[in-house]
Amino acid sequence: MIKEAKLYKKEKDDHVFCFLCNHKCRIAPGKYGICGVRQNQKGDLKTLVYGEVIAAHVDPIEKKPLYHFLPGSLAFSVATVGCNFRCPFCQNWQISQSNKKDGSKAGESFMPPDIVKAALRQGCRSISYTYTEPTIYYEFAFDTARLAKEAGLGNSFVTNGYMTPEALEEIKPYLDAANVDLKAFNENFYRKMCGAHLEPVLDSIRTMKELGIWVEITTLLIPGQNDDSEELKKLAAFIAGVDPDIPWHISRYHPDYKYSESPATPIETLRNAYRIGTEAGLHYIYIGNVIGESEATLCPECGQALIQRSGYHTSKGKIKNSRCEYCGASIAGIFD
Ligand code: SF4
Repeated sequence: MIKEAKLYKKEKDDHVFCFLCNHKCRIAPGKYGICGVRQNQKGDLKTLVYGEVIAAHVDPIEKKPLYHFLPGSLAFSVATVGCNFRCPFCQNWQISQSNKKDGSKAGESFMPPDIVKAALRQGCRSISYTYTEPTIYYEFAFDTARLAKEAGLGNSFVTNGYMTPEALEEIKPYLDAANVDLKAFNENFYRKMCGAHLEPVLDSIRTMKELGIWVEITTLLIPGQNDDSEELKKLAAFIAGVDPDIPWHISRYHPDYKYSESPATPIETLRNAYRIGTEAGLHYIYIGNVIGESEATLCPECGQALIQRSGYHTSKGKIKNSRCEYCGASIAGIFD
């Protein structure tokens, strides 16, 4: 469905300026933004993907991954086509790199009230805007999140963090949590691999924390591209500087999409990043895409395992009222 976009300004000669994400596209009449799902139609910016759902599944919240946001619960997960990044290693490229420029319908009509009803019916505690980039279907996510909140559900974004502060401020009353992909600590990597810049992503992480949105960070380690120890030290120091309670998910890469130049990430590389995170003072570090490797939530005070995990299976936790049941230390996150 086509709908008027949020967060844009009209300019002279029927041009528009979109400030939903940090590409800040200036779009001529009839043309599209970089995301390929927002079009200038006669001087009005339109979203072309409102309610056009390309993927809808009930997932464990751990799959996002979010380990400190309603752990062990189900998240009703939705996406439309499109993305504002062009990462060659994208694991959802079939849907993220589709766009609307050929005018085709992409996905089934699934409107916000029906999504909320489906989430409630299937016992979900939250709705997750995921698989592709939620920023580029912002209007649809916004309306769904508002209704979900009214129905007592939480909302989470799984995002590249490229939205503007204005977008975050507007959705903040409804957005409880986000997993932000911090893909590297390297401007060159962002420019070459994603067609974007690093600094706006760092700004979004800071802004989310300031706004009170629960944040976890994921870094997919690609051998030879973003796994240099010095770079990882800077990345971990950045997270610790914002808040050492931010969980850091270090994820194993498998060759995908257009990118097969690097082999799957060796376990030792993941363990090295884990050590670097510990030395930087991060309280919660997890290794992803490897079953049996640093999946548990450990108490940062006494070191006891509070939540055991195996893949997406989660044990009943030893966290009560956001405190460790063994030593009483405060555990960061949203647990109930
Ligand atoms: S959301 Fe799309 S149109 Fe808007 S600035 Fe980002 S890439 Fe450009």
